[in-house]
This record gives sequence, C-alpha cells and structure tokens, in this order.
Amino acid sequence: MHCPFCQHEDTRVIDSRLADDGATVRRRRECPQCGERFNTFETAELKLPAIVKSGERRESFDERKLRTSFERALQKRPVASHDVDAAVRAVIDDLRRSGEREVPSRYVGELVMRELKKLDQVAYVRFASVYRKFEDVHAFREEIEKLERDLPGLENLQLSLLGEAGAAAAAKRGHRKS
Ligand SMILES: [Zn+2]
Repeated sequence: MHCPFCQHEDTRVIDSRLADDGATVRRRRECPQCGERFNTFETAELKLPAIVKSGERRESFDERKLRTSFERALQKRPVASHDVDAAVRAVIDDLRRSGEREVPSRYVGELVMRELKKLDQVAYVRFASVYRKFEDVHAFREEIEKLERDLPGLENLQLSLLGEAGAAAAAKRGHRKS
C-alpha cells in the first residue's frame, strides 16, 4: 500500500501478528523512501447492515434492542436463556450473511418472528400481534386460528392470548388518549 506520509507507491511489511484473539492481523509497515513506519489492521468485513426504519430513518444495528424484543415476547415463557441466545445469534448471522449495507426493520422483524415461531408459540403470537399491529381482536384471532390449524394441540392458546390481546388493545386505547 501507499505510504501515508510521503505517498510513495509501495511499503514493506516488516512484521505481521495476530491481535484481538486472532480476529485481526496487525502489520507493521515501513516506507523505503521516507523510512516512516506505521501499522495496518486487517479484519474480516462482517459489518452488520444498518436498519432502515419507516420514514427512511436509519439506525445502526443494536444487539441489545434485538435481545429486548425477544425477551419481551418471551416474558414468563418456559424458554431457556441459551435458546434465546441461539435465536439472537441466528438473526445476527442471517443479517451478516445478507451482505447488505442496510435492510428494512421489517426484515429484522420477520427474522425474529421466524425464530420465535420455533421457540414458543405464545411468544410468537405476542410479538406478531404487536409487530403486525393487528387492528383489532378479530385480526388477532384469525392469526391464532391459523396457528392452531398449523399446529394442532394448542387448545389453550387462544384463550390465554385473547386475554393478552384484550389488555394490549386497552393499553393502545389509553395511548391514543394521551
Ligand atoms: Zn514514505
């Protein structure tokens, strides 16, 4: 690479070692023209895409926020924390693999739903109900009925979730007033 001091076209690598537990290669370089030395760092490009919210607003990816989405949906559900960790990792890996510089927040939401669906049906419907902003209990009920058709043996799901939907709808109405 070019020398950053004198812009000479070539520099020599005089030392090369691993840093950051092997995640980075640090190279010590020397310019044959001006004799200056400097370091370069080489890391794999695994940047996560920026998240584009509605209204074109961009945010850098925030793992804590992603985890909070899972935790909220899974509140009081019998799911082991290492399973939650794995789900969070699965979403992050997918975002990385996408190779995109930015993705719509909707896309992240779909990935979260995919993972929740595997982890816990109640959490999945909870998340979907907030995420897809079901307009009323009717739309919510339809989603649950669809789930029950897909996954028989969930007799109690509808009852417990409709209780939650009622509470959510009431909270929503409260929000509108303020
Ligand atoms: Zn130089």
